[in-house]
Amino acid sequence: VKPDPAKIATTESLFRDVNERIAESAVGGHMSSVDFFCECADPTCTERLTVDLQDYEEVRSSGTDFLVLPGHELPAFEHVISRRRGYQVVRKVEKAVAAVARRLNPRRRRA
Ligand SMILES: [Zn+2]
Repeated sequence: VKPDPAKIATTESLFRDVNERIAESAVGGHMSSVDFFCECADPTCTERLTVDLQDYEEVRSSGTDFLVLPGHELPAFEHVISRRRGYQVVRKVEKAVAAVARRLNPRRRRA
């Protein structure tokens, strides 16, 4: 079965939206690191990864970058650009996936 790029990007963007809400509520508190959801393409993945809020902001500054657990990346669509403790940052390199990820970027209008 060939994975559908639009579906991949949509699933990952949904997790991104959830994490944006988690980040928003964390900013008001005093936490420096926060438990976010893995933003991989598996809609049934509900695993968590702990990320420093500053690092989270850095990843979110790019509409094609996502936070996933090690091994949850899809090499045909995304490249691991950074490996960190407990999680990694992937960047969409496949054109169709990247386009949808950019279009669904919740920060696009704010930028
Ligand atoms: Zn995952």
